[in-house]
Amino acid sequence: LPLVRAQSSPDYMPDTKFYKIEAILRPWRIPQVSSALLKMGIRGVTVSDVRGFGAQGGSTERQAGKFSSSIGSEFSEDKLVAKVKMEIVVSKEQVEAVIDKIIEEARTGEIGDGKIFLVPVSDVIRVRTGERGENAERMIGGHSDMFAPQASV
Ligand code: ATP
Ligand code: GLN
Repeated sequence: LPLVRAQSSPDYMPDTKFYKIEAILRPWRIPQVSSALLKMGIRGVTVSDVRGFGAQGGSTERQAGKFSSSIGSEFSEDKLVAKVKMEIVVSKEQVEAVIDKIIEEARTGEIGDGKIFLVPVSDVIRVRTGERGENAERMIGGHSDMFAPQASV
């Protein structure tokens, strides 16, 4: 499978310190994606089982020959495809590497590989300590820890 990288970031991307990478992926690809992220120092991830409708649902629908009849009505239960949503909040410098890693590990090249949404995050607050910002976003054993020569300040 040829390597696909995310194109360079568009000029409408809001500038902030933290972003949430929200990836809707094929469930059976999740183990591979998670272990690759762990290797690169990603420690904080939230995962949910979701169901969705996209081009994959659409193609199922066309095969069933009901394309025109469903326009304007609700998404029917049987057209919703099981997906997993991974939400990963990272600092700005880590965004592109994480996105490329997700593509590398999740891509099959077939319709239904999923989509990634990038959401600006205005702050991170650690409940246990009340820390905010960088101090709350950094994780023990995380990327910043792994690549810093000394413990981070
Ligand atoms: P503590 O040091 O107090 O344990 P922590 O930063 O490790 O703080 P947890 O309290 O372990 O955070 O995190 C609770 C939940 O928050 C996790 O199970 C995960 O779902 C989510 N989470 C934590 N960090 C992130 C992150 N950076 N991105 C996405 N989800 C996260
Ligand atoms: N940016 C954090 C760190 O380097 C890791 C964030 C995450 O694991 N989601 O510690």
